[in-house]
Amino acid sequence: MQQTVCIVGGGPAGMILALILARNGVPVTLLEAAQDFKREFRGDTVHPVILDLFDQMGLIDDIFNLEHVKATSFRYRTPTENFLAYDMTTSKYRYPFIALIRQSEMLEVLLEHAKQYPNFQIVMGARVEALLEQNQQITGVRYRQNNNLVDLPSSVVIGADGRFSKVRQLAQTEMLQLSPATDVLWFKLPKYPTDPPDSETDLYLSDKHYIAMLDRADHWQVGFSIPRGGFQAAKQQGVQTIQTVIQERIPWLADRMTQLTDFSQITLLSVQISRAKRWFKPGLLLIGDAAHVISPVGGVGINIAVQDAIATANSITTLLLENRLETRHLAAVQRRRNWQVAILQAQQVAIEKASTDAFEKNQGAKVPTALRFLRSMPLLRELPARLTAYGIIPEKLRPSLAFRSTQS
Ligand SMILES: Cc1cc2nc3c(=O)[nH]c(=O)nc-3n(C[C@H](O)[C@H](O)[C@H](O)COP(=O)(O)OP(=O)(O)OC[C@H]3O[C@@H](n4cnc5c(N)ncnc54)[C@H](O)[C@@H]3O)c2cc1C
Repeated sequence: MQQTVCIVGGGPAGMILALILARNGVPVTLLEAAQDFKREFRGDTVHPVILDLFDQMGLIDDIFNLEHVKATSFRYRTPTENFLAYDMTTSKYRYPFIALIRQSEMLEVLLEHAKQYPNFQIVMGARVEALLEQNQQITGVRYRQNNNLVDLPSSVVIGADGRFSKVRQLAQTEMLQLSPATDVLWFKLPKYPTDPPDSETDLYLSDKHYIAMLDRADHWQVGFSIPRGGFQAAKQQGVQTIQTVIQERIPWLADRMTQLTDFSQITLLSVQISRAKRWFKPGLLLIGDAAHVISPVGGVGINIAVQDAIATANSITTLLLENRLETRHLAAVQRRRNWQVAILQAQQVAIEKASTDAFEKNQGAKVPTALRFLRSMPLLRELPARLTAYGIIPEKLRPSLAFRSTQS
């Protein structure tokens, strides 16, 4: 009998994997708890490595038809200097920019493509509540839809259900917890034609906070750091504190700070940095945020989640088609991806710690020393751009699984 796949969670990781499996003839059912993809704000930064993958999958035109902003450079803006961390315009990448694209719209494009394949099924409003298990092998899931419980048997379950993964919890997977030092408050501010043109993804550093700016074409998405666990205290202080910090640090935003009137306009991102010690069990694999939660440093959540999906597709598609998938093949996905995630998380912890140490000493966060060193060395100058764009070892879809026979 043909091996089948159940993917739990229609975020970037689950959707991309479902599309590749379906396109290559594997029967796949995607279960998504929400009724639609219209979340208020999910990660929106799509790095060159992912744009290359979209190209390889023949999706790039549809992706670029969506409204997007191209962020080509990144600056640390401290009170005393503007430090250019990288500039991709001088690189030879096929897509030398980070595309800021609404995640909900990107997911809709992927879904439309997946729906073209008869062996792709999606069930919206399907919340997984239990794993089916026989002889210590996961054999499917039980989900709730409209108050009905449905059992879905499956040869392999992919847990791609995000940072609060139910699948991970049901699999009783032990987590390795690292210590982030900040939480982030996200809110929107209006964008005006007179705003500086070169601030698409810049990071402003003040004495006690960092302020991340994301250019969303018709508005600014602003991330304002607070000490970890400091949400209630920030709420008690009220939005005036945030207004004052931003007015002082980013004077060109002063004219619109009164539009942030109360905390109902603010979304808390409670930052976590953790990863599952084992991403797999017989019949089950975790990918994306379900396998590892990373901090917003670098805006690489989508990037890492999609690369997990690609590594998984490369490893399991042919085996599934030939009914040969075994637990050791799922273990191989963790081996391939885990160390890259571990390096990234260690980097994030170090950057966060350096900033908060400086905040505690009232020194203001500084440009990371390693970055300053790399940028000062002519032969290494381009490395920060390269690492941002492609990471350490970028995943590529196997040519036999690609949607186009050649990459032009
Ligand atoms: C406020 C915020 C800002 C962020 N900013 C950025 C950014 O700028 N750039 C960036 O790259 N990343 C950012 N991230 C992180 C990024 O959104 C995630 O890393 C990325 O979406 C992970 O993809 P995923 O597919 O693994 O999981 P998710 O995108 O979380 O998708 C998981 C899906 O599973 C579904 N689900 C959950 N439980 C169940 C269940 N029991 N049954 C069925 N379905 C279920 C959910 O509804 C969801 O659709 C941000 C995250 C947050 C919260």
